[in-house]
Amino acid sequence: DASQYQAPANLLENRIILVTGAGDGIGRTAARTFAAHGATVILLGRTTAKLEAVYDEIVAAGHPQPAIFPMDLESVGEAEFDALAEGIEKEFGALHGLVNNASLLGQRTPIANYRLDVFEKVMRVNVTAMFGLTKALLPLMEKAEDASIIVTGSGVGLKGRAFWGAYAVSKFATEGFMQTLADELDGVSQVRINSINPGATRTNMRAAAFPAENPVTVASPEDIMPTYLYLAGPDSKTVNGQQFNAQPNRQSGQTDKK
Ligand code: NDP
Repeated sequence: DASQYQAPANLLENRIILVTGAGDGIGRTAARTFAAHGATVILLGRTTAKLEAVYDEIVAAGHPQPAIFPMDLESVGEAEFDALAEGIEKEFGALHGLVNNASLLGQRTPIANYRLDVFEKVMRVNVTAMFGLTKALLPLMEKAEDASIIVTGSGVGLKGRAFWGAYAVSKFATEGFMQTLADELDGVSQVRINSINPGATRTNMRAAAFPAENPVTVASPEDIMPTYLYLAGPDSKTVNGQQFNAQPNRQSGQTDKK
């Protein structure tokens, strides 16, 4: 059970891992946790001050010095993704991990009311950017000895649920992307791709989606790290195309009342 995985302290030594949305929430905790296990993390996100704060926390803790790549995934395209890949190759020579974590929640409203411009924005960040970034970084990951791509799904990306609009659509697309690339890589590449459904986790996004919920009743980002560590490290080397639930014992949609 990956959610109970116990990582050795040096699990990610000598690994370069890029985390999107690394300035806050689950991405911030994943970056700090990977660094604590020896990884050099590349912090990508849209708010530079937040990335700098995470950078400072990692350095202050004595972990490997991270790198910062501010990028607004809503507005960038192929040229920026290629430039990022070139920059990483120049600075680090290889990439062992990519965690596609950044996402937008969008509106929580019936589809009949859903704004098309919000739909497009959510799809750009949650789907197009994930696709473009993964595509651009894949050649660099092929150069590593064993490389792991993680995408971030959701319960509403496995079974549709009222009022989740573009977010649910984007998370179904995330699983579809994961399965499609996993099938392409299967047997011909050492690169693997899997998805994690974090389950209800105490972050700004969760609070925005469930404003009436008492945040202490949901898991902290630290609680769900075993699954992230398992998939980021070499113990999951042969695992490809799988969908993981980081909180398998939590009943899905428990607090999601219409
Ligand atoms: P948060 O909103 O707390 O954090 C999301 C991060 O993504 C932020 O750092 C944010 O940057 C960044 N981000 C958003 N838009 C962009 C953009 N255009 N360009 C670059 N970075 C961007 O969300 P969570 O930590 O809760 O979510 C992390 C992942 O987990 C998401 O994929 C989410 O869908 C998924 N998830 C979360 C659940 C939960 O209960 N929390 C449950 C199921 C899935 P900034 O800080 O600048 O806003």
